[in-house]
Amino acid sequence: MMDILYRSTRNDKIAVKASQAILKGLAEDGGLFVPNEIPSLDKTLNELSAMNYREVAYEIMKLFFTDFTEEELKNCIEHAYDSKFDNSEIAPTIGDMSPYFLELFHGSTIAFKDMALSILPYLMITSAKKNQATNEIVILTATSGDTGKAALAGFADVEGTKIIVFYPKSGVSMIQEKQMVTQVGANTHVIGIEGNFDDAQTGVKNIFSDKEFEQLMNQNGFQFSSANSINIGRLIPQVVYYVYSYVQLLKRNEIKEGEQINFVVPTGNFGNILAGYYAKKMGLPIAKLICASNDNKVLYDFFETGVYDRNREFVLTTSPSMDILISSNLERLIYRIAGNSSEKNAKLMSDLSKVGRYEITDEMKNELADFYGNYASEEETAEAIASLYHKTGYVMDTHTAVAYSVYEKYKAETADQTKTVIVSTASPYKFTRSVMDAIDTAYDTMTEFELVDELEKLSKVAVPQAIEEIRTARVIHQTTCDKSEMKDAVKAFLKL
Ligand SMILES: *Cc1c(COP(=O)(O)O)cnc(C)c1O
Repeated sequence: MMDILYRSTRNDKIAVKASQAILKGLAEDGGLFVPNEIPSLDKTLNELSAMNYREVAYEIMKLFFTDFTEEELKNCIEHAYDSKFDNSEIAPTIGDMSPYFLELFHGSTIAFKDMALSILPYLMITSAKKNQATNEIVILTATSGDTGKAALAGFADVEGTKIIVFYPKSGVSMIQEKQMVTQVGANTHVIGIEGNFDDAQTGVKNIFSDKEFEQLMNQNGFQFSSANSINIGRLIPQVVYYVYSYVQLLKRNEIKEGEQINFVVPTGNFGNILAGYYAKKMGLPIAKLICASNDNKVLYDFFETGVYDRNREFVLTTSPSMDILISSNLERLIYRIAGNSSEKNAKLMSDLSKVGRYEITDEMKNELADFYGNYASEEETAEAIASLYHKTGYVMDTHTAVAYSVYEKYKAETADQTKTVIVSTASPYKFTRSVMDAIDTAYDTMTEFELVDELEKLSKVAVPQAIEEIRTARVIHQTTCDKSEMKDAVKAFLKL
């Protein structure tokens, strides 16, 4: 089998094995690791349709993580995709008519981040062993709400690791915050910052590229890694469910082998949809990847004009996990459409960091035909939740509703009849207030947990374990800091 190496999107000279890319998270020059080639599926879709989620996961990951042994990889997969998921299919594709819903929220924190973050800790410890790393791994993560909890749950009490999570104090839902601040595990630390998600993400990136700090860490037996979606160990596990969803539809005779389908992806940091793009490049028959944004529609504008411009107001919406103006993973796409040119990409990223804006060439723009971008306003999102509920009884969360609403626009605009899967990224229980408000404003006066019980009656879906747990859980983490004090907060926790 071909060895895949991982190069930095900003420097061709850097090329490391999968395990090293997973350990590092981000390349030294601030670039993201990308595979030097995207491997093709080596099983037919029919063969894959006879496999369960874990088996499909192995078939995909073995092609990317070529320096892992079969035993190592299978061991990671078995530990990740087990009874932590409350559905035996792990990621079921719901419905018997297009649009289908690919539910990615059956893991322990009821959002799609569990799909990758339940395996990342195992990939990381295995990578550390393979590379004889002796330092303790410190996971540093910025979260718009869902990554933080999923990473905390994944890394809590994992030997040889510590995890520090920064979240925007006023930018997450009440349930998201409660999930994080009640996290147990002596190696966990959660900090609310005065600032938004982009501030948190930039702060974390700055700490990562601080050479002096790295030295100090090293002297004290620590090394940083990232659980953010910039880590290739998160991106690749996300390719799996696109393939799995397709072959489930095939198995159920909803589609024919080779038939092209669309995926609609509610997008923030561009990690989820990029995994779909990788799946397509591996040979999965995907027609369009429909990129759905909320009012922070920087990606929609980018697809329309070829200009990426973050100089705009940051809007707090009811889909907070998509409240992002710097979509980190887009860099991997930019690199690719620039003809795998680290030089061209580095120039654009430097523009982005200096003036908050860059423009791609027409030639690059032509490479974006795999994508369609649009956005949904707050009213349209709420409308989508209410109308689908009244029509079918199915209750979507706010992020999924953004995707649903964008899909309606796409259909109206293109009259495309291609069968389509809506990627459903969170359980409605994670955003109960916004979801219930969308259905009926009469719910306004109820408390969050009263709403949870109402939602159960309405949706006829049992309250997930993740919500039951936090009803009575004790708040453990109360640290807050300004966005300028993040480095000091890390030092304090690590006693440096
Ligand atoms: C993280 C997240 C998204 C956005 O995914 P990206 O990979 O950042 O584009 C969408 N919905 C939910 C519920 C999320 O947690």
